[in-house]
Amino acid sequence: MELSQNARIVLEKRYLKKENGQVIETPEQLLKRVAQNVAQADYNYQKSPEQVAEVEQGFFEIMDSLEFLPNSPTLMNAGNELQQLSACFVLPVEDSMEGIFDALKYAALIHKSGGGTGFSFSRLRPKHDIVRTTGGVASGPLSFMKIFNTATDVVKQGGTRRGANMAILRVDHPDIIEFIKAKKNKEEFTNFNFSVGITQSFMDAVVNSENYPLVHPKQGHVVEELSAQKVFDLLVEMAWDNGEPGIVFLDRINQDNPTPAVGDIESTNPCGEQPLLPYESCNLGSVNLSKFVRNQAIDYDRLKQVIHTAIHFLDNVIDMNQYPLPEVEQITKANRKIGLGVMGFADMLIQLGLPYQSTQAIQTAKDVMGFIRQEARNASNTLAEKRGMFPNFPNSIYQQASKHLPLRNATLTTIAPTGTLSILASSSSGIEPLYSIAFTRTILDGQKLVEVHPYFKELAEQKGFYSKELIERIARTGSVQGFNEVPQDIQALFVTAHDITPEAHVRMQAAFQEYTDNAVSKTVNFPHDATQDDISQAFILAYQLGCKGITVYRDGSRSGQVLSTSNTT
Ligand code: UDP
Repeated sequence: MELSQNARIVLEKRYLKKENGQVIETPEQLLKRVAQNVAQADYNYQKSPEQVAEVEQGFFEIMDSLEFLPNSPTLMNAGNELQQLSACFVLPVEDSMEGIFDALKYAALIHKSGGGTGFSFSRLRPKHDIVRTTGGVASGPLSFMKIFNTATDVVKQGGTRRGANMAILRVDHPDIIEFIKAKKNKEEFTNFNFSVGITQSFMDAVVNSENYPLVHPKQGHVVEELSAQKVFDLLVEMAWDNGEPGIVFLDRINQDNPTPAVGDIESTNPCGEQPLLPYESCNLGSVNLSKFVRNQAIDYDRLKQVIHTAIHFLDNVIDMNQYPLPEVEQITKANRKIGLGVMGFADMLIQLGLPYQSTQAIQTAKDVMGFIRQEARNASNTLAEKRGMFPNFPNSIYQQASKHLPLRNATLTTIAPTGTLSILASSSSGIEPLYSIAFTRTILDGQKLVEVHPYFKELAEQKGFYSKELIERIARTGSVQGFNEVPQDIQALFVTAHDITPEAHVRMQAAFQEYTDNAVSKTVNFPHDATQDDISQAFILAYQLGCKGITVYRDGSRSGQVLSTSNTT
């Protein structure tokens, strides 16, 4: 395994097995532990020990080469006591004391094991509503969310990683204005991402400058009407102010719900890439595209092999998983959703010589993701023939499709942020452009180290314009745009998230979404001086292009952020 120093630090801190605070496994032993554990599932399908050993070797190889990595909980927990392998969960929040506090308890159990939880609070009765049993008044979704936030704070002290939450409130919930404004106070709800659940009828009302109704979630009557434009403008203003709330397009998400007869999707996991039914969980994995370029072309043969092994791996994870609740186990095993995605996409584009903003880059995104989705389906079909279709298949959209292909898994593809995986693999994260070409890292003793992107360094040395002084100057902003000593074509290739127009960010997200069963994690970056109108246009473009949601970030808009390219280890 070729590991960078950062990867080793992260592994030691959180992933390698410890006893009495001492690390007791090497990175290779970690991969062996994971491969060995996940391969065991093959015994459920009448495989011999020799065959299982072969499967294990295949799993080990694609991880050892850093061509594929499963989500963090699988790396941390497979073969260990916890054995909780999934990153994503959605829990229902019923409108009753029992329902609310059950969800709170379940979330704590999930966070303890390294999973993230998403909730829709839309079923809760609004603030000031009558509580029949006591004659008192309800305190509303926001007050309960504060308790979830505090519980997350407490649990994270003992867990393997920060528990993350998503809170969704439908745009037609009576408390929506309070929800939209809630994160203006940056000290509150720090363990939550907020997203407004937007409906198609709301978007129609915005376009037609009409009012839209706020509906009582239990009784179904219209509580009041609001101007759709005013609510949309408030949402834009808040997102401009500090990036939150984001939005999710609920009707668009439910268009792709593979099992509408089983239930509606009302929430996603914390980072938005995985819409799930209540109690459903999903395990993710990512192919590292930076490992698949040979002679300036994509090695589709190798990619196909890795996809098939990865789908086999992720399907096995469902069997080997120790579920935190019987309800989670039941629905997860009935749908068998998995999410294969990518990291290192920006690195791959550089190796191919394609600027991120170019039309060829968009085409490459569609080609690669289209290929991954197709091969993932073929792999799931092969598994279905050997292991059976997912139990809800007869209730699914695939059964109804005229030429249905038996599938082992209700969904196959998801683009995760790969926040930690990309550090382990030393690749660009998810489908994001590079964040900076060079930056200054302050290490623990206060010493400053300048780090430079390895491809840029290599090219700069080859073309003879590399100098320590140039890299130090680049590290001040992270960008190489406008540096005369850097040739124009290299400037075009080494663009960062801040050099790219918000429109190009949204178009890339939409290109991936077109070929992804679940959703796409992506941040649409804006310069500091972007206007609210710019944000509004990005929201509308994302809606028009069929994205399932959008998260924006205006540079420097969160408190404490001085220089976007500084980094501290
Ligand atoms: N996640 C979490 N806590 C974290 C980071 C991630 O609960 O600190 C969950 C969350 O559901 C997120 C998902 O893991 O959407 C995937 O995140 P990412 O791809 O960054 O995880 P990685 O596998 O790289 O650690």
